[in-house]
Amino acid sequence: MERAYPSTLDNQKTAFFGRASSVSVLEKALQMLESHPLCDHCLGRQFAFLAYGIENEEKGKMLKTMLLMEAQAQAFEKKMESIRILKTLATNGFFKLAEETLRKMGKRPPKKAAKVCFLCEGCFETVDELAKRAVEKLGEYEFSTFMVGVELPVDVEEREDEFKARFDVEYGENMRLELGKLLSRKIAQHSGKKLDHHRPDIVVLLNPKTGEVRLQINPLYIAGRYKKLVRGIPQSKWICTRCRGNGCEKCNWTGKMYPESVEELISPPFLEATRGVKVSFHASGREDVDARMLGKGRPFVIEISQPKKRFLDLKKLEEAVNAYAEGKVEVSDLRVVDKSFIGKIKKGEAVQKEYRVIVEFEKEVFDEDLKMLEQKLTGVIVKQRTPLRVLHRRADLTREKYIYEVKVKRLSPNKAEIRVRCQGGLYVKELVSGDEGRTTPSVSEILGQKAKPIKLDVLNVIM
Ligand SMILES: [Zn+2]
Ligand SMILES: [Zn+2]
Repeated sequence: MERAYPSTLDNQKTAFFGRASSVSVLEKALQMLESHPLCDHCLGRQFAFLAYGIENEEKGKMLKTMLLMEAQAQAFEKKMESIRILKTLATNGFFKLAEETLRKMGKRPPKKAAKVCFLCEGCFETVDELAKRAVEKLGEYEFSTFMVGVELPVDVEEREDEFKARFDVEYGENMRLELGKLLSRKIAQHSGKKLDHHRPDIVVLLNPKTGEVRLQINPLYIAGRYKKLVRGIPQSKWICTRCRGNGCEKCNWTGKMYPESVEELISPPFLEATRGVKVSFHASGREDVDARMLGKGRPFVIEISQPKKRFLDLKKLEEAVNAYAEGKVEVSDLRVVDKSFIGKIKKGEAVQKEYRVIVEFEKEVFDEDLKMLEQKLTGVIVKQRTPLRVLHRRADLTREKYIYEVKVKRLSPNKAEIRVRCQGGLYVKELVSGDEGRTTPSVSEILGQKAKPIKLDVLNVIM
């Protein structure tokens, strides 16, 4: 009696071995094993998307078991084919049960079994050990989420591609993907941490071939707001323009234009608390060196590279920073954010800012002058060419900035306090002086006399 075997690839009944134009899953598995030694993972993986949900290793074992059953059934019918299948399973299938079956049938099992799987060269055997070593290495770091990257030699991947083409593999998965899934699962089990493909704290790079384990520690981002309570401090470290940081007479051999900056006054405690390698400071705009930053403070983000600690007591950190900055700078609202937050605060041009500027006039000013000033500067668009004082570092452009409100208070016959609430990015000193006509309208232009900004404070940055 002819044995028939249903094809999984189509619904036609086809003969089990040979003859049929359409090849069944089991036939294909046998052909693969006849050509190359394949471990359970690598055989099962060629059919990954059939009976999806069953592990490739499990599937490989099942296919080999099915082949063994088929071979035994054929043996009962005295078909010679059965011995060939059993020998293939015993050698290229690394299948002990096939070896025993041959022995029971009184056949001598093949002398030498294949040494190693043709496709993975034993990579899957190292998975447990590799995951264990990764977890050990991860132990040095605080983290919540991770992702796995698998590195495979080019020739291993090329070999699998050729193999798939030769056997017309339609439902297979690739090796890197399977290794990644297995390693991720094991690392999650052993570490108790979560897998995250979008924004992992740590990327674990594993090479199953060489056994190499590398960690890529992603930065930690802490956002907050800072106030600058004294004048004369730049926002970030300002390298000496004459010696470019090497040290010269002009900078008193410090390499810097100013001995300290907001950045330098707040960074060290962040570095210490996180035990990172370095910090970068990002802020939403900047105030002038001689301007204070008051109110609720200016938004900033500190980026810490390769932090060992991520689970921080932010209240304590805030206290440490404020103690370190000795009342010159004060931070508040510290919180952990993700990287995209830097982009958000850098686009701060759209936010509103509130300034207080003390202005000195050349001649006496009267209340009606100041009333007119309020009216003519409230709800207007100011055209501003890049100020002369920053022209050396910024392109010469004309920008348009909106002023929401201006309030003026007279302090003495030729002094007034002006409060300006405007679109971020407006140069307020130039709004007062007019910058030789480059800013219009301006306080000088409206009053027809020279107005000079004496003291400037940023009162609020509204996100
Ligand atoms: Zn393999
Ligand atoms: Zn210098």
